[in-house]
Amino acid sequence: MFEAVGLMVFYENMLALNNVSLVCGQNQIIGVFGANSAGKSTLMYTLSGIMDDIAKKERMAGGERITIRGELAYLGRNIMGDKPSVRAKAGIILCPERRRIFPESTVLENLRIASYLANKKQAEETLDYVFELFPPLTKITGRLGGFLSGGEQQMLAIGRALMAQPKLLLLDEPLLGLSPAIQYWLAKAIKEIAEQRGASIIVAEQYARPIMPIIDYGYILENGSAVIEGGRQELMDNPDVKSAYFGA
Ligand code: ATP
Repeated sequence: MFEAVGLMVFYENMLALNNVSLVCGQNQIIGVFGANSAGKSTLMYTLSGIMDDIAKKERMAGGERITIRGELAYLGRNIMGDKPSVRAKAGIILCPERRRIFPESTVLENLRIASYLANKKQAEETLDYVFELFPPLTKITGRLGGFLSGGEQQMLAIGRALMAQPKLLLLDEPLLGLSPAIQYWLAKAIKEIAEQRGASIIVAEQYARPIMPIIDYGYILENGSAVIEGGRQELMDNPDVKSAYFGA
């Protein structure tokens, strides 16, 4: 349902993505694993179109020159150059790194704000689903976003992305800063989203251990290049992946 071919992103002369290609099939979970600075956020911004906005803003402010190249096909259509809002309307929804929830709005307001792409019935149904998926949120609907724990913030961030009715959900480092127990619990919830909502998911993470078991296919990103790719078991059996991500 989604294919990126030969993505290149330059920040001035610095190559942040080097000829990255990836495929995500209907209902699949695709993992993109890499250390800090590997290019994960650059990739997620490029897929969602936010990179084009960042490049445009930099150009208007006379800042750094950002160059984006490559092809993006989504549901049989070329979407390279489409604005982030057009991509979101078509179902490509980014849940950004560090959550970016509204600190001065309540949990419920944060969720409702994101339902602008849904009709009333869809919004109510999805709200019920978010509370079913993340029961801890039901007890804190009136709490301000700025007063949530890391785990609660991440549940809210994913819940908010769901309210936007994703067909392709892009999760950028959803496990960042969370305890191992919560990381595993969230990984299970991500798998349930793919199964229960019929969504395709691309998840970028440095913590491969909890995410690797839920993916169908994955890519290892190093210095902007996809250096290894393979199915879940193939990656888990790969000695380089094992030593880098599983301490074996
Ligand atoms: P992290 O886990 O730290 O977020 P990441 O894998 O998401 O890492 P990116 O944020 O995509 O990595 O960064 C890839 C490289 O591009 C890094 O070397 C980073 O310093 C550089 N970079 C990111 N944004 C810019 C920018 N606006 N201008 C210049 N260089 C940038």
